[in-house]
Amino acid sequence: MAGLYIHIPFCKQACTYCDFYFETSRKHRADFVHRLLGEMEMVTAERPDFTSEKIETIYFGGGTPSQLTAVEINQLLEKIRLLWNVSMEVEITLEMNPDDVKKGYLAEIVDAGINRISMGVQTFNPERLRFMNRAHSREEAHLALEALQQSGCRSWTADLIYGNPDQDEADLMQDIDALLEYNPPHVSAYSLTVEPKTKLGSMVRKNIVKPAEDDLVSRHMKVVTESLGKAGIERYEVSNFARPGHESRHNSSYWTHTNYLGLGPSAHSLWWDADGKGATRWSNEPKLAGYMQRGEENSPLFRQFEPEFLDKKALAEERMLIGLRTARGVKEESLAQRYNYKLNADQRSWIARMRKEGYIQPERDGEAGVRLSDRGLMLADYIALQIISRG
Ligand code: SF4
Repeated sequence: MAGLYIHIPFCKQACTYCDFYFETSRKHRADFVHRLLGEMEMVTAERPDFTSEKIETIYFGGGTPSQLTAVEINQLLEKIRLLWNVSMEVEITLEMNPDDVKKGYLAEIVDAGINRISMGVQTFNPERLRFMNRAHSREEAHLALEALQQSGCRSWTADLIYGNPDQDEADLMQDIDALLEYNPPHVSAYSLTVEPKTKLGSMVRKNIVKPAEDDLVSRHMKVVTESLGKAGIERYEVSNFARPGHESRHNSSYWTHTNYLGLGPSAHSLWWDADGKGATRWSNEPKLAGYMQRGEENSPLFRQFEPEFLDKKALAEERMLIGLRTARGVKEESLAQRYNYKLNADQRSWIARMRKEGYIQPERDGEAGVRLSDRGLMLADYIALQIISRG
C-alpha cells in the first residue's frame, strides 16, 4: 500500500507564524494544475514501481488546497484514478480554510471524492485571528464548521493552536468549547511555535511579542488533552485527537514508513528500495517558479531534489522518534521484523528506570515495547533521543 501527498502552494495571505511553503499570488494557479497533471504522468511513466502499490490515502496539503476550484480538484482526482490503482476504501483529505467554504463548494468537492476535510480554524478569538493574520473571521469559522457538519463528508478535523502569547486557560477553554459544539470527529491541536523566518519570529526578536513560557504551554496541552478526552476525542499522537475510527490514516502511514509519493513544489516522498534494505527520501523542486520551469523542460530532476538514502538503522531510529509520540508507542516485534533493530541492555535498563519513574507505561502482556504515559508524552522527543543515543 502507498499514499499520495499533493502540495498546493497558494494562500490568500501569510499567517504570522507560518513557515510552510506558499505563494500569495494566485495568478499561476491554472497553469500549476496543468503542471501537476503533467508531473503525475511523468512520474508514473518513468517509475512504474510507483504505480505498483494500491493507493490507500491521498492528502491535499499546502498552502491552502481550498484555493483550487472544485473542478480542478476533480480533474486531479480523475487523473490519479486513471494512473494509479486507488483502493475502494481510500481516505482522501483536503486542507481547507473557513473563508473558502462557499455555498455549494463543499458538496462539489465531496462529490469529487474528498471524504475527509481538515479545517484550519486555529482559534475563534477575533483579536487572536487578527494577530495570526488569518484570512477568516470568528463568524466564518462557525459557519464553516456548521456547513461541514451538514456536508455529508465521511470525516473531518479542525486545527487549534494553543500556547499563544497572553493566552490564559479560560481563553483556551473558550476555543475548545466552541469547537466541541460541532462534535468534531478529530482535532489537531498544536502549540504555537516561533519559527525564525516568520513575521512572528521577527516580532519575538524585536521584543514586540513574548512567547508563552514552557510551563504554560504544558498546562495548555494538559487542558486540551483532558477536555477533548472527556468529550470522547482521545489523544492518539502528541498533537492529534480522534473519536474511534477517525484517526488520520494518511498521517499514521507516515509514522510507520509506508511508501508515499509527494507531488507539487516542496513535496517530500519516501519510497522503500526494491531490495528492502532501506528507503530513499527526497523532495521536489522547492519553489513554484522552479517547479513550473522543470515541468516546462520535462526535466528528469523534477522529483529528485536532495535525495537521501536511509538504511534500516536510520529508519528504526526515526520510527522510535515518531512512534514514541503516538499513544500506541513502538513495539519491539515491529522494530525487529521491519528494521532488524533490537534494543540493547543499556537501552533496556534506561527504559526500565523511566518506567519506574512513570514516564513509560507498564508493559502489556505479550507485547514488549515502549509506550509513553501522559507525563512521558510531554517529553517524547527527549525520551526517544535518550533511547536512540544508547543504541
Ligand atoms: S493558510 Fe496555512 S499554509 Fe497558508 S500561510 Fe496560513 S498557516 Fe500557512
